[in-house]
Amino acid sequence: MDVSSVGAGAIVSPSTASAESAALLARADRYYVAVYQPRRIVLERGSGSRVWDSEGRDYIDFSAGIAVNSLGHADPELLAALQEQAGRLWHTSNVFVSEPPLRLAEELVQASGFAERVYLCNSGTEANEAAIKLVRKWAAAEGRPPERRVILTFEGSFHGRTLAAVTATAQPKYQQGYEPLPGGFRYCAYNDLAAAEAAMAAGDVAAVMVEPIQGEGGVVPAADGFLGGLRALCDRHGALLVYDEIQCGMGRTGKLWAWQNESVAPDILCIAKALGAGFPIGAMLVGPRAAQIWQFGAHGTTFGGNPLAAAVARVALRRLAAPELLGNVARQSAALRRGLGEINERLSVFEQVRGCGLMLGAVLAQPWRGRAGVILDFAAAQGLLLLQAGPDVLRFVPALNITDTEIDTGLQRLSAALQTFAQA
Ligand SMILES: *Cc1c(COP(=O)(O)O)cnc(C)c1O
Repeated sequence: MDVSSVGAGAIVSPSTASAESAALLARADRYYVAVYQPRRIVLERGSGSRVWDSEGRDYIDFSAGIAVNSLGHADPELLAALQEQAGRLWHTSNVFVSEPPLRLAEELVQASGFAERVYLCNSGTEANEAAIKLVRKWAAAEGRPPERRVILTFEGSFHGRTLAAVTATAQPKYQQGYEPLPGGFRYCAYNDLAAAEAAMAAGDVAAVMVEPIQGEGGVVPAADGFLGGLRALCDRHGALLVYDEIQCGMGRTGKLWAWQNESVAPDILCIAKALGAGFPIGAMLVGPRAAQIWQFGAHGTTFGGNPLAAAVARVALRRLAAPELLGNVARQSAALRRGLGEINERLSVFEQVRGCGLMLGAVLAQPWRGRAGVILDFAAAQGLLLLQAGPDVLRFVPALNITDTEIDTGLQRLSAALQTFAQA
């Protein structure tokens, strides 16, 4: 195949797709609003970090549903928790209480190292939306007029797709055409403390919202001292520090919370992806400075804190905080880095491998830049589910309990995919 004729992110149809899979995929093309461009395979079942498609082909899963399936697929303990709760009570709304979300809130506070209260929701963007609204309410309670309730966010960030969260997301490609955007956001360069200091000089910033490792923006970790510098700036200006750990939290870096690598605690922490290990749930954790701000009626959700989601998340939280699991993250991170280094010695495809724990980004070297999307198709064809983070970065976010064999097999398949790509 001549890949030079295939644009970045284009879809390469595997020639082996059966008529049945092709018919299913045609439904995606016909009935979905066209916002996704999924790979042309139909996934059917999974076990651990292995997934099978409708043709019976198996894949090593280095994508984990975008850093969500933190304990792999079909984990027996998660399944038992879900089934047990499913036989008892599915939903109450927050007009009534049930035990799983109450326990989860308590366990999140205890595990947080800083928080006093929790707001449960269903997704990452909702957790950030809650944080944005809480910051504004807090600033109002501080007596700040609306023009002094600015939220500072960073270029390359990703905070979600609802209108306020996408406005916090300082990347034009996510915002274009959605104007008018909500006001009161300011952007500055990531990992540039001097720029943050200048952006806060007027004293009108009420909060800084930051990913300790930028995910969608290319897997870019905060530089040494960046979070600490932001903490100091927030303290100097009486602003709140909000961490978006929706992708990098829940053990992914080898610590339960990514901020623990720098020991700089936030005032508000947003989590989601791995929290439910595949069941949709998000949470905003609030420290003492803002824990009492929201009172009756200030915010809410029908589904947030759903008992099914909470029952699963309780098991996930306990498992992801366990030292053995966090040890596995460090061990498999080293194995993955080693393997990527070996591939690079042979093929010279990467300029750099960056990130932390099991959140790694391999930055493509010239002349491969801009081709990440195509490489993902070659990976799928070799039996590997892989993600990109923009057109130049291959993103590795496997399950945190991935095994030695799964890492090895995945690396072999990646190597084969890159080799075929290079020769095509
Ligand atoms: C995925 C992600 C979000 C949005 O989460 P959704 O569940 O898709 O709404 C927000 N912030 C970060 C850092 C993310 O990775």
